Amino acid sequence: MLKITDLHAGIEDKEILKGINLEVNAGEVHAIMGPNGSGKSTLSAVIAGKEEFEVTKGSVELNGEDLDEVSPEERAHKGVFLSFQYPVEIPGVSVTNFIKTAINESRKARGLEEMPANKMLKLIREKSELLDIDRRFLSRSLNEGFSGGEKKRNEIFQMAMLEPKLAILDETDSGLDIDALRIVANGVNKLKSKDNAVIVITHYQRLLEYIVPDFVHVLHNGKIVKSGGKELALELEEKGYDWLKNEAVV
Ligand code: ADP
Ligand code: MG
Ligand code: MG
Repeated sequence: MLKITDLHAGIEDKEILKGINLEVNAGEVHAIMGPNGSGKSTLSAVIAGKEEFEVTKGSVELNGEDLDEVSPEERAHKGVFLSFQYPVEIPGVSVTNFIKTAINESRKARGLEEMPANKMLKLIREKSELLDIDRRFLSRSLNEGFSGGEKKRNEIFQMAMLEPKLAILDETDSGLDIDALRIVANGVNKLKSKDNAVIVITHYQRLLEYIVPDFVHVLHNGKIVKSGGKELALELEEKGYDWLKNEAVV
Protein backbone atom coordinates (compact mmCIF):
# COMPACT_ATOMS: atom_id res chain seq x y z
CA MET A 1 0.00 0.00 0.00
CA LEU A 2 2.63 2.51 1.10
CA LYS A 3 6.17 2.34 -0.19
CA ILE A 4 8.75 4.88 0.91
CA THR A 5 12.09 4.69 -0.83
CA ASP A 6 15.25 6.56 0.19
CA LEU A 7 13.18 9.53 1.28
CA HIS A 8 15.05 12.72 2.00
CA ALA A 9 13.05 15.76 3.05
CA GLY A 10 13.48 18.95 4.94
CA ILE A 11 12.51 22.52 5.42
CA GLU A 12 14.33 25.50 3.98
CA ASP A 13 17.96 24.36 3.93
CA LYS A 14 17.65 21.89 6.75
CA GLU A 15 17.54 18.19 5.93
CA ILE A 16 15.35 16.39 8.48
CA LEU A 17 14.64 13.00 6.88
CA LYS A 18 17.85 11.42 5.67
CA GLY A 19 16.96 8.33 3.70
CA ILE A 20 13.83 6.59 4.97
CA ASN A 21 12.79 3.21 3.61
CA LEU A 22 9.48 1.80 4.74
CA GLU A 23 6.83 -0.53 3.35
CA VAL A 24 3.37 -0.81 4.83
CA ASN A 25 0.86 -3.35 3.56
CA ALA A 26 -2.89 -3.57 4.02
CA GLY A 27 -3.82 -5.24 7.30
CA GLU A 28 -0.69 -4.08 9.12
CA VAL A 29 -0.18 -1.81 12.11
CA HIS A 30 3.21 -0.13 12.24
CA ALA A 31 4.56 1.84 15.15
CA ILE A 32 7.17 4.51 14.58
CA MET A 33 9.02 5.46 17.70
CA GLY A 34 12.02 7.55 18.49
CA PRO A 35 13.31 10.36 20.64
CA ASN A 36 12.07 13.90 20.42
CA GLY A 37 13.29 15.68 17.33
CA SER A 38 14.11 12.49 15.42
CA GLY A 39 11.75 13.39 12.57
CA LYS A 40 8.59 11.46 13.39
CA SER A 41 6.16 14.32 12.82
CA THR A 42 8.05 15.38 9.71
CA LEU A 43 7.64 11.88 8.29
CA SER A 44 3.90 11.91 8.92
CA ALA A 45 3.61 15.39 7.40
CA VAL A 46 5.55 14.35 4.29
CA ILE A 47 3.36 11.25 3.81
CA ALA A 48 0.28 13.46 4.12
CA GLY A 49 1.82 15.87 1.62
CA LYS A 50 2.09 18.98 3.77
CA GLU A 51 3.61 21.59 1.57
CA GLU A 52 5.97 23.26 4.02
CA PHE A 53 8.30 20.29 3.70
CA GLU A 54 10.33 19.70 0.60
CA VAL A 55 11.18 16.26 -0.68
CA THR A 56 14.72 16.46 -2.04
CA LYS A 57 15.26 12.82 -2.92
CA GLY A 58 13.45 9.49 -2.99
CA SER A 59 9.76 8.77 -3.19
CA VAL A 60 6.50 8.07 -1.42
CA GLU A 61 4.19 5.73 -3.33
CA LEU A 62 0.61 4.80 -2.54
CA ASN A 63 -0.62 1.66 -4.29
CA GLY A 64 2.08 2.07 -6.90
CA GLU A 65 1.41 5.75 -7.57
CA ASP A 66 4.16 8.28 -6.88
CA LEU A 67 2.59 10.96 -4.66
CA ASP A 68 5.15 13.66 -5.45
CA GLU A 69 2.73 15.82 -7.44
CA VAL A 70 -0.36 14.91 -5.42
CA SER A 71 -1.80 17.60 -3.11
CA PRO A 72 -2.68 16.89 0.54
CA GLU A 73 -6.41 17.09 -0.32
CA GLU A 74 -6.07 14.57 -3.13
CA ARG A 75 -4.07 12.28 -0.84
CA ALA A 76 -6.89 12.47 1.67
CA HIS A 77 -9.36 11.56 -1.05
CA LYS A 78 -7.18 8.60 -1.95
CA GLY A 79 -7.62 7.40 1.62
CA VAL A 80 -4.70 8.89 3.55
CA PHE A 81 -5.77 10.16 6.96
CA LEU A 82 -3.49 12.14 9.26
CA SER A 83 -4.69 12.84 12.76
CA PHE A 84 -4.90 16.50 13.54
CA GLN A 85 -2.13 17.65 15.78
CA TYR A 86 -3.67 21.04 16.41
CA PRO A 87 -7.40 20.65 16.08
CA VAL A 88 -9.31 23.81 15.33
CA GLU A 89 -12.26 25.02 17.36
CA ILE A 90 -15.35 25.77 15.33
CA PRO A 91 -18.01 27.27 17.56
CA GLY A 92 -21.52 26.46 16.39
CA VAL A 93 -20.47 23.54 14.19
CA SER A 94 -21.15 20.20 15.81
CA VAL A 95 -18.94 17.14 15.67
CA THR A 96 -21.58 15.50 13.47
CA ASN A 97 -22.07 18.37 11.07
CA PHE A 98 -18.36 18.78 10.62
CA ILE A 99 -17.89 15.16 9.63
CA LYS A 100 -20.97 15.18 7.35
CA THR A 101 -19.50 18.12 5.48
CA ALA A 102 -16.07 16.51 5.31
CA ILE A 103 -17.50 13.29 3.90
CA ASN A 104 -19.61 15.07 1.30
CA GLU A 105 -16.75 17.36 0.26
CA SER A 106 -14.59 14.32 -0.21
CA ARG A 107 -17.28 12.56 -2.23
CA LYS A 108 -17.78 15.64 -4.38
CA ALA A 109 -14.05 15.85 -5.08
CA ARG A 110 -14.17 12.24 -6.25
CA GLY A 111 -17.15 12.90 -8.52
CA LEU A 112 -19.64 11.15 -6.25
CA GLU A 113 -23.05 12.38 -5.12
CA GLU A 114 -23.72 13.43 -1.55
CA MET A 115 -24.31 10.58 0.82
CA PRO A 116 -28.07 10.21 1.37
CA ALA A 117 -29.09 11.51 4.80
CA ASN A 118 -30.42 8.17 6.01
CA LYS A 119 -27.23 6.41 5.01
CA MET A 120 -25.18 9.06 6.76
CA LEU A 121 -27.23 8.66 9.94
CA LYS A 122 -26.80 4.91 9.83
CA LEU A 123 -23.04 5.30 9.43
CA ILE A 124 -22.87 7.75 12.33
CA ARG A 125 -24.89 5.42 14.53
CA GLU A 126 -22.77 2.41 13.60
CA LYS A 127 -19.43 4.10 14.18
CA SER A 128 -20.41 5.89 17.37
CA GLU A 129 -21.71 2.64 18.84
CA LEU A 130 -18.56 0.82 17.85
CA LEU A 131 -16.46 3.45 19.60
CA ASP A 132 -18.77 4.01 22.57
CA ILE A 133 -19.39 7.64 21.71
CA ASP A 134 -22.58 9.07 23.13
CA ARG A 135 -25.08 11.31 21.37
CA ARG A 136 -24.42 14.32 23.52
CA PHE A 137 -20.83 14.31 22.40
CA LEU A 138 -21.83 14.23 18.74
CA SER A 139 -23.89 17.39 19.08
CA ARG A 140 -21.19 19.38 20.83
CA SER A 141 -19.40 22.26 19.15
CA LEU A 142 -16.24 21.09 17.41
CA ASN A 143 -13.31 21.08 19.81
CA GLU A 144 -14.81 23.88 21.89
CA GLY A 145 -13.76 23.24 25.45
CA PHE A 146 -12.75 19.67 24.62
CA SER A 147 -10.52 17.86 27.07
CA GLY A 148 -7.49 15.96 25.75
CA GLY A 149 -9.52 12.77 25.82
CA GLU A 150 -12.44 14.37 23.98
CA LYS A 151 -10.14 15.69 21.26
CA LYS A 152 -8.86 12.16 20.77
CA ARG A 153 -12.41 10.83 20.73
CA ASN A 154 -13.29 13.30 18.00
CA GLU A 155 -10.20 12.40 16.01
CA ILE A 156 -10.91 8.69 16.21
CA PHE A 157 -14.55 9.30 15.30
CA GLN A 158 -13.42 11.26 12.21
CA MET A 159 -11.10 8.42 11.29
CA ALA A 160 -13.89 5.86 11.73
CA MET A 161 -16.30 7.87 9.58
CA LEU A 162 -13.81 8.55 6.78
CA GLU A 163 -12.73 4.90 6.62
CA PRO A 164 -9.19 5.67 5.46
CA LYS A 165 -7.01 3.15 3.68
CA LEU A 166 -3.95 4.45 5.50
CA ALA A 167 -4.35 6.15 8.86
CA ILE A 168 -1.41 7.97 10.41
CA LEU A 169 -1.82 8.86 14.04
CA ASP A 170 0.85 11.22 15.24
CA GLU A 171 0.64 11.08 19.00
CA THR A 172 2.48 14.16 20.12
CA ASP A 173 4.42 14.13 23.30
CA SER A 174 2.13 16.35 25.30
CA GLY A 175 -1.27 15.96 26.82
CA LEU A 176 -1.71 12.26 26.36
CA ASP A 177 -3.16 11.03 29.61
CA ILE A 178 -4.08 7.42 30.13
CA ASP A 179 -7.70 8.02 29.08
CA ALA A 180 -6.65 9.57 25.81
CA LEU A 181 -4.24 6.71 25.17
CA ARG A 182 -7.00 4.18 25.73
CA ILE A 183 -9.36 6.02 23.38
CA VAL A 184 -6.78 6.03 20.61
CA ALA A 185 -5.78 2.42 21.19
CA ASN A 186 -9.36 1.20 21.40
CA GLY A 187 -10.20 3.04 18.18
CA VAL A 188 -7.24 1.62 16.30
CA ASN A 189 -7.93 -1.90 17.53
CA LYS A 190 -11.59 -1.72 16.51
CA LEU A 191 -11.01 -0.07 13.15
CA LYS A 192 -8.13 -2.16 11.88
CA SER A 193 -9.04 -4.59 9.15
CA LYS A 194 -7.38 -6.57 6.41
CA ASP A 195 -8.07 -3.73 3.98
CA ASN A 196 -6.52 -0.82 5.84
CA ALA A 197 -3.22 0.01 7.44
CA VAL A 198 -2.32 2.13 10.43
CA ILE A 199 0.89 3.93 11.31
CA VAL A 200 1.04 4.98 14.94
CA ILE A 201 3.72 7.49 15.72
CA THR A 202 4.66 7.82 19.32
CA HIS A 203 7.38 8.92 21.63
CA TYR A 204 5.92 6.74 24.35
CA GLN A 205 6.17 2.99 24.69
CA ARG A 206 3.07 3.15 26.87
CA LEU A 207 0.68 3.49 23.94
CA LEU A 208 1.94 0.14 22.68
CA GLU A 209 0.69 -1.59 25.78
CA TYR A 210 -2.76 -1.03 24.30
CA ILE A 211 -2.10 -1.25 20.58
CA VAL A 212 -0.23 -4.32 19.45
CA PRO A 213 1.76 -3.35 16.37
CA ASP A 214 2.89 -5.86 13.77
CA PHE A 215 6.08 -3.88 13.22
CA VAL A 216 8.03 -1.34 15.24
CA HIS A 217 10.52 1.08 13.69
CA VAL A 218 12.86 3.37 15.54
CA LEU A 219 13.65 6.70 14.00
CA HIS A 220 16.78 8.53 15.01
CA ASN A 221 18.22 11.60 13.37
CA GLY A 222 16.05 11.23 10.28
CA LYS A 223 16.74 7.56 9.66
CA ILE A 224 15.13 4.29 10.67
CA VAL A 225 17.91 2.75 12.75
CA LYS A 226 16.07 -0.38 13.78
CA SER A 227 12.96 -2.34 12.81
CA GLY A 228 11.42 -5.32 14.49
CA GLY A 229 8.27 -6.86 15.85
CA LYS A 230 6.30 -5.81 18.91
CA GLU A 231 9.09 -7.11 21.16
CA LEU A 232 11.24 -4.18 20.03
CA ALA A 233 8.87 -1.84 21.86
CA LEU A 234 9.44 -3.81 25.06
CA GLU A 235 13.17 -3.67 24.55
CA LEU A 236 12.95 0.10 24.19
CA GLU A 237 10.86 0.30 27.32
CA GLU A 238 13.64 -1.45 29.17
CA LYS A 239 16.69 0.17 27.62
CA GLY A 240 15.53 3.55 26.36
CA TYR A 241 16.81 4.94 23.08
CA ASP A 242 20.47 5.59 23.79
CA TRP A 243 21.74 2.14 22.86
CA LEU A 244 20.32 2.60 19.36
CA LYS A 245 22.18 5.75 18.55
CA ASN A 246 25.24 3.76 17.55
CA GLU A 247 23.43 0.97 15.71
CA ALA A 248 24.53 0.42 12.15
CA VAL A 249 21.94 1.53 9.64
CA VAL A 250 20.69 -1.37 7.57
P1 ADP B 1 9.65 14.49 16.28
O1 ADP B 1 8.22 14.47 15.83
O2 ADP B 1 10.31 13.15 16.18
O3 ADP B 1 9.80 15.07 17.64
P2 ADP B 1 10.01 16.52 14.25
O4 ADP B 1 9.71 15.90 12.94
O5 ADP B 1 8.97 17.36 14.87
O6 ADP B 1 10.49 15.40 15.27
O7 ADP B 1 11.34 17.39 14.12
C1 ADP B 1 12.55 16.88 13.57
C2 ADP B 1 13.57 17.99 13.44
O8 ADP B 1 13.13 18.92 12.45
C3 ADP B 1 13.77 18.80 14.71
O9 ADP B 1 15.13 19.14 14.80
C4 ADP B 1 12.93 20.02 14.50
O10 ADP B 1 13.44 21.12 15.17
C5 ADP B 1 13.01 20.21 12.99
N1 ADP B 1 11.79 20.83 12.45
C6 ADP B 1 10.55 20.29 12.44
N2 ADP B 1 9.65 21.14 11.89
C7 ADP B 1 10.35 22.24 11.57
C8 ADP B 1 10.00 23.50 10.98
N3 ADP B 1 8.73 23.78 10.61
N4 ADP B 1 10.99 24.42 10.80
C9 ADP B 1 12.26 24.14 11.14
N5 ADP B 1 12.64 23.00 11.70
C10 ADP B 1 11.73 22.05 11.91
MG1 MG C 1 8.60 16.88 18.47
MG1 MG D 1 6.43 14.87 16.78
